[in-house]
Amino acid sequence: MGEYFNVADIFGENVFSDKVMQERLPKKIYKELHKTIDEGKELDPIVAEAVAEAMKQWAIEKGATHYTHWFQPLTGVTAEKHDSFITAPRPDGTILMEFSGKELIKGEPDASSFPSGGLRATFEARGYTAWDCTSPAFVREDAAGAILCIPTAFCSYTGESLDFKTPLLRSMEAINTQALRLLRLFGNTTSGKVTPSVGPEQEYFLVDAKVFQQRKDLIYTGRTLFGAMPPKGQELDDHYFGTIRQRVASFMRDVNLELWKLGVSAKTQHNEVAPAQHELAPIYAVANVAVDHNQIIMQTLKRVATQHGMKCLLHEKPFAGVNGSGKHNNWSIITDDGINMLDPGKTPHENIQFLLVLACILKAVDEHAELLRESAADPGNDHRLGANEAPPAIISVFLGEQLQDVISQLISTGTATRSKTGGVLQTGVSTLPDFAKDATDRNRTSPFAFTGNKFEFRMVGSRDSIASPNIVLNTIVAEAFCQACDELEKGENFEEDVHDLIKKYLTEHQRIVFNGNGYAPEWVEEAARRGLPNITSMVDAIPYLITEKTVELFGKFGVFTRAELESRVEIKYESYAKAINIEARTMIDMASKQIIPAVIKYTRSLADTVLAVRQAGVDTPVQSELLAECSALLSDTRNALAHLIEVTEHASGMTEGRDQAVYYHDVVMTAMTDLRAPVDRLEMIVDKSMWPMPSYGDLLFEVGR
Ligand code: ADP
Ligand code: MG
Repeated sequence: MGEYFNVADIFGENVFSDKVMQERLPKKIYKELHKTIDEGKELDPIVAEAVAEAMKQWAIEKGATHYTHWFQPLTGVTAEKHDSFITAPRPDGTILMEFSGKELIKGEPDASSFPSGGLRATFEARGYTAWDCTSPAFVREDAAGAILCIPTAFCSYTGESLDFKTPLLRSMEAINTQALRLLRLFGNTTSGKVTPSVGPEQEYFLVDAKVFQQRKDLIYTGRTLFGAMPPKGQELDDHYFGTIRQRVASFMRDVNLELWKLGVSAKTQHNEVAPAQHELAPIYAVANVAVDHNQIIMQTLKRVATQHGMKCLLHEKPFAGVNGSGKHNNWSIITDDGINMLDPGKTPHENIQFLLVLACILKAVDEHAELLRESAADPGNDHRLGANEAPPAIISVFLGEQLQDVISQLISTGTATRSKTGGVLQTGVSTLPDFAKDATDRNRTSPFAFTGNKFEFRMVGSRDSIASPNIVLNTIVAEAFCQACDELEKGENFEEDVHDLIKKYLTEHQRIVFNGNGYAPEWVEEAARRGLPNITSMVDAIPYLITEKTVELFGKFGVFTRAELESRVEIKYESYAKAINIEARTMIDMASKQIIPAVIKYTRSLADTVLAVRQAGVDTPVQSELLAECSALLSDTRNALAHLIEVTEHASGMTEGRDQAVYYHDVVMTAMTDLRAPVDRLEMIVDKSMWPMPSYGDLLFEVGR
């Protein structure tokens, strides 16, 4: 049992928060800094100097020895390089602890080893990290000691973004500008800023570290590449929301403690659908802070799991045949004076501003469905999306009964005169309270669902950064707002114009709304009839990042230049090819060195038995049959392995780019599936004590009580 603590006391204790700044910075400096944070005013070097000094003092008091510019290159994970605060020893041999304003605002990591997609030739690999003062610095404690982490953006020498933060911040500016325009049209003169708020729900698996260590596939790729289904899976639904096992509970406790200290508002934890699967959700935060916090959450889950003798699997599909992991990206837009523009209120039909916002979002999602789908594409997610679980690969929007009804009224009669209400839920038990129902039930199968006062984008993969989906969401909605404002600002009669525009958008984009079961095969056909795209793989999604429509969209709002998009496309093809290449080579390694030798051993023991028993004058139908079956599967395995080796060699010899990635997807992945099939059948036959690695059952049910 650990010690008890009061969360309010420790929350944010390792964050250089606004409160800390207020206490430690001279008033004038604090005010100036806030002008930068709140109004985007350029940062004065004198202010930076003072902030750096206060930050250093504070961090040293927390035990920090080093600082790092913490950034998010296009690898999808964070990067850092640690510098200690020490200066060169003075003549008397002592040192000072120094940290200048320049060091705070600008870093220059050797950028040649980060993906740049041709934006910088490696010989001039200058990259800069720049302080993002809108996401607070923090002191992280781990085996390296205490490190002051400064969230930064990462750009090339020529100013092109090489990370996820820069375009995210640009997209936040775009939606701020356009949302304010829209609010002004409705007579709002008080809101000064609009920010997207994001709450990501993080799913993950926990497995025992000792068991994990015996699986090369988990070590190298994060997912199992072989493995027969265990006798028990998730069919009993007894894990979801089940009692949390003590070992896991103690892990969650430590995760929460660490996150709270870092100011991450870890809120909800529960068991998920699959055995050994869990979820953690923080309270929503401003988009760029939420993105940073999600990275901290993923890193903390991994680190604390290791401390508890477990491994945290963030892969989207660690086990074939078992539910995969995703990240529900809850998104809304909120003003600095607390108005959630996605809040319909009690009577949505009267809330014209909300209806316009909603119509704009439907238009945005319909017009850029491919791009939104692309934003959730990563190699691991290919195993989830469209694979009869999680959301389907087809983008559609769930609105629920109440909004659907309002929209139908608007489309058919031109006016909406009523909103359905939820009514009262009667439990039929006199001691239980009756309570008011929500007007809308949940729909768990929709990739983009309206859930009360926010949209929930459910396609995002568990391992992926949530930056890309939020960049896309912010920008496409900014565009729709912009187009609506362009129309409305030039009109004479606002009431009438806005009414017509809402009706027009809803009518034109109603095909994107789907309130039914997204897992049903009929939906695939229905979606095709509606002309909605169904993009089932990452390689098929990538081209949408560089269509003329996309280039124009991002260019218009200064989020990405064409060159930046081209580089990202290049990086995506490369990283896809690399990921599959590692998987293929891991399979080759495991099959050659572990599986085939084990099967040979087993067949030999069978053969020995057959001989010995026959010598004793007894018939051996069962052993002989097993021997024949094993030998046949062994030969299938050998052939499939030879084929996989051949195609993988061919693939890795190809020039990097689209053709190579497509080859990996079409040919190498298929060869991998073909190798897996006989091996998984062999696993069900071969003596368990001879099978060279732990089974799915060992992984999923042995985490402990
Ligand atoms: P669920 O029932 O799907 O788990 P919750 O209500 O628990 O939904 O919320 C899930 C996530 O959505 C949490 O991170 C929560 O903070 C976040 N969230 C709630 N309201 C908003 C909002 N207005 N904007 C963005 N995220 C929100
Ligand atoms: Mg959810």
